[in-house]
Parts: sequence; C-alpha cells; structure tokens
Amino acid sequence: MAKTIIKNLNKVYPNGYHALHDINLNIEDGEFIVFVGPSGCGKSTLLRTIAGLEDISSGELYMDDKLLNNVDPKDRDVAMVFQDYALYPHMSVKENLEFSLKIRKYDKKVINEKVNKAAQILEIKDLLKRKPKALSGGQRQRVALGRAIVRDPKLFLFDEPLSNLDAKLRSSMRAEIIKLHQDMKKNNTSFIYVTHDQIEAMTMADRIVVLRDGYIQQIGSPEQIYDNPKNLFVASFIGQPSINFLDTEIVDKNLIIKGTNYICIKDYKGPENVLIGIRPDQIKLGGPIEMMVSFTELLGSEKCVYGKIADNKIVAKLEGKHRVNTNEILNIDFNKQSLYYFNKENEERIYFD
Ligand code: ADP
Repeated sequence: MAKTIIKNLNKVYPNGYHALHDINLNIEDGEFIVFVGPSGCGKSTLLRTIAGLEDISSGELYMDDKLLNNVDPKDRDVAMVFQDYALYPHMSVKENLEFSLKIRKYDKKVINEKVNKAAQILEIKDLLKRKPKALSGGQRQRVALGRAIVRDPKLFLFDEPLSNLDAKLRSSMRAEIIKLHQDMKKNNTSFIYVTHDQIEAMTMADRIVVLRDGYIQQIGSPEQIYDNPKNLFVASFIGQPSINFLDTEIVDKNLIIKGTNYICIKDYKGPENVLIGIRPDQIKLGGPIEMMVSFTELLGSEKCVYGKIADNKIVAKLEGKHRVNTNEILNIDFNKQSLYYFNKENEERIYFD
C-alpha cells in the first residue's frame, strides 16, 4: 500500500490565487518522485504543503495512514533540503548537523552516531570543524543534505537543491543524490524532488509528476513520460532538443504534412486541426521529405540540424559524423511508428489503432 497519499488536494493562497487543483498522488515506500514543470506551475507549493509549511485548503494528506493536514511541520516525519542551503553561518559543519537533533533533545551519544554516519555517507568528515563560509558550493550542499540525513526521515523533500551549482557540480551531485536514495530506500525512505530541469527529472525519478498551472498533466516513469506523452504540453516539456510539431492538412482524404506530399495517414477519418509530433532523434537521413537546413550544432557524437520542412520548423538529431551544410536540402524520412498526433484545439493526444 502507498505510504504517502495525497487526495483531491487544493491550495488557494490568501490572495485568492488557486495554485493547486485536485492533486491526487500515491507515493510508495522507497520511491523517488520528481515534480517537474515550468516556473510557477505549483511544484514548490505542493512540496511545501507536504512539509506542512503551507496549509491545505481542501483535500487530504496521509502518511502511514495518519492524516497530516493539521500536524505541525516539526511533528511530520519529513526533512527538507532547500536551494539556498539555509546553513547557520555562525555554526561549524558539525554544529549545523547536530542542530535539529539537539532541539529535539536527542541523547548526546545518539547525536554523535548520527552525525558521524551522515558525515561518512557524504564524505565530509574532514570538514566538520569548518564554518560554511569556508566551504565550496558543493560542500555546502552536502552539509545541507547531511542535516536532512541525520533526521532519518520517512520522507525527504528537495526544493531545487542543485540549481545554484555549476553544470559540472550539478551532474556529480545528481549522482550523489541518486546514490543516497539507493542507500536510504533500503529503510523505505521516499524522496520527493522539485525541479524545472527535465534532465534531473529524467535521470533521477522512479516516477515523474508533470505539473502545469497547478494541474497534474501526467504521472509516469521517465520512459512512459518520454515515450507516451498524454498531451502536447508533456511532449514538448520533456526531451532535449524538444519534440518537433508539424502542421497538417487533409488532402484527398489523406492526412499529410502541410506544404508537402508526405502522407502520414491514408484514408484519414480523425479530427481536423492535427499537429504531428516527431522527436529529433527519430528522423533519419534518406527519404521523400525535403528539409532546408538553416544551421547545425555539433554536440560531440551527435549533431543537431535545424531547418524547415515547407513552413514547419524542424530539428533533427543525427550522428555527428554526417557533413551537413547551411542552405543544403536534406532528404529525410520519419519512422511512422514514432509519429505522435495531437489535437490542435485541446492539445490532447489522438490515438489511432
Ligand atoms: P513553482 O515552484 O512551480 O515555480 P510555486 O509553487 O512557487 O511554483 O507557485 C505557484 C503559483 O502560486 C505561482 O503563480 C505563484 O506566483 C503563486 N504563489 C506562490 N506563493 C504564493 C503566495 N504566498 N501567495 C499568492 N500566490 C503565491
């Protein structure tokens, strides 16, 4: 049975802004859940209602069958790691790690054990006497993680913890958080992680929750979200470079890419106003579609080729070794199995048998 259950949760801020709409989510023991979506979609609000830092306007939040709606943050079995570390500058690393245990009046021996264990996991044993200002960004972030680890919570909450770090450090901390989760899930500890970065979502999550304007758009594993997006928003939010959308028209009962002769569906009977989605890595060289190249971007082993098919903008991801010139006309093809269809009016996915 799921251990953290969110049922029909709504959040309306005192100024009347309705930030979360009917959120339903079950989080299993040991799961790594990532909330992802553009800025302002309600990720932090949802995390903060779970932490108890924001009231729930309606709906219910349970952990281990206990209703948490009116339970104080400090009495919830959760620990939160913030983007800005929130370390106490006048305290040493050791004192920062001990602080929450001291105010909960833990035994000194237990405190020492927990602090040493956290310091060992995070490899910060040599830093215990230092003050935060004498630490690098990555080391500070580790101490912030350590402060959450010593609490031994049932649920870890992360609010964009890596967004202040440079790209290289971000990727190594990402790996450390994944490792931390592997260790802690043995005790059934679950992680909820907020980010606007789809790469973090894809690489870290067991399941991703995609949010938009306070509504859940889709919940699924990274593979499900990437391979089987439910609507145009999810398809466009996940994937780098983004999925291409091509306009269509119906000619002689066939659904074709607008401005071309390329037939996507013969004897088409679906709705009008359809957008076709094709991921850049599903485009192959050679075929009946003409793509006018505008520019290319070498990424190393791969190359992104930007251009147009008739009036539709398109980007293709090809092997880096292909030579492609600006203003060249490339002949390309799509694997028809990898085309997605979306209703342009309501942005929902259209499925065909
Ligand atoms: P995200 O974390 O996805 O960037 P937030 O959860 O911080 O988004 O915010 C969701 C929406 O709620 C935003 O439109 C934001 O302006 C609004 N919001 C956040 N905090 C408050 C508040 N205290 N009062 C009113 N509106 C708020």
